[in-house]
Amino acid sequence: MVDVLVVGAGPVGLAAAIEAKRLGLSHLVLERGTVAETIYRFPRDLVFFSESKNIEIGGHPLVSHGPKPTRKEALLYYQRVAEREALGVLTYTEVLRIQGQEGAFQVFAREGRGERTFLARYVVLATGYYGNPNRLGVPGEDLPHVLYRYEEGAAFFGRKVAVVGGSNSAVEAALELYRAGARVTLVHRGRWVRPSVKYWLLPDFENRVKEGSIAALMEAEVEAITPEGLWLRRPAGRAFLEADFVLVLIGYRAEDRLLREAGVAYEGETPRLSPEFETSIPGLFAVGSCAYGPETRSVFIENGREHAKVALAAIARRLAP
Ligand SMILES: Cc1cc2nc3c(=O)[nH]c(=O)nc-3n(C[C@H](O)[C@H](O)[C@H](O)COP(=O)(O)OP(=O)(O)OC[C@H]3O[C@@H](n4cnc5c(N)ncnc54)[C@H](O)[C@@H]3O)c2cc1C
Repeated sequence: MVDVLVVGAGPVGLAAAIEAKRLGLSHLVLERGTVAETIYRFPRDLVFFSESKNIEIGGHPLVSHGPKPTRKEALLYYQRVAEREALGVLTYTEVLRIQGQEGAFQVFAREGRGERTFLARYVVLATGYYGNPNRLGVPGEDLPHVLYRYEEGAAFFGRKVAVVGGSNSAVEAALELYRAGARVTLVHRGRWVRPSVKYWLLPDFENRVKEGSIAALMEAEVEAITPEGLWLRRPAGRAFLEADFVLVLIGYRAEDRLLREAGVAYEGETPRLSPEFETSIPGLFAVGSCAYGPETRSVFIENGREHAKVALAAIARRLAP
């Protein structure tokens, strides 16, 4: 039995494991993909909006070429930190269910083709949100040409791509797709894209729209997706937009299935948490964005790593002889 079992080896889960180690607690991290899986799956050429020092964990310096790290720099950094700290991480091990109580949790996981049960005194969930993209809730959204994650533009060369969304992910994808030779239309229900779009992307996007390189259909609600394109509702009436691919990039919701199935109490769409990030089940903690329901924009690596410290300090106090 370990003192602390952490679910998820993203930046926040790793921060929790480092903290456990420094507090003298035994730990194990279970991760369904690789270490920092979410960052591995980010758009290939992404540059973080945070400065490097703000996403460091465990006091290890993240050295980047520019003031803000690239996806690759951050990915290598988190993996190297896990190695340097000799964290106990089991990758490709997906947690299916958590049951039990403070001092005696059972964590059921799928590992390769088999299943395995782990025992822990405390469980800290750090499952993030990237695996749970928002859906439009319209007919056709499960068609094979409808994608919920963007990685690289080259796959779309010469094709008509509708990008649905109006914040960072959508604007960044639209710009990259245009530069990769796709014919891009950005579709958004608002009057214009969000002002919070990265400051170095917004003027680029606005100029590409002005010159006609990227088409922008604002105040357009998607009604349905067909194999040929999208039906849109606009102030002037219904319109059809042809598209070979539809990229839906409209944010995320917390990946909190494990919390719900464990029977944690919710207030509306978010779990009830103590100031130390403990759920209504004593001994079960939730840190980072997995505890914020639809409010995923309010939690980043920058503040999620601090949640991990608070939660682990509380656990260490309880385990103190
Ligand atoms: C495009 C983009 C850019 C961003 N840029 C920034 C930025 O500049 N600065 C910033 O601070 N934040 C940024 N964020 C937000 C940041 O990525 C997240 O807040 C961050 O990843 C949260 O870390 P985390 O460890 O909580 O979650 P994640 O990094 O998502 O880690 C969760 C981990 O849990 C694993 N997991 C999930 N379910 C299970 C399960 N059942 N069993 C086992 N493992 C499981 C996942 O595979 C994943 O590895 C950005 C997000 C996006 C989408």
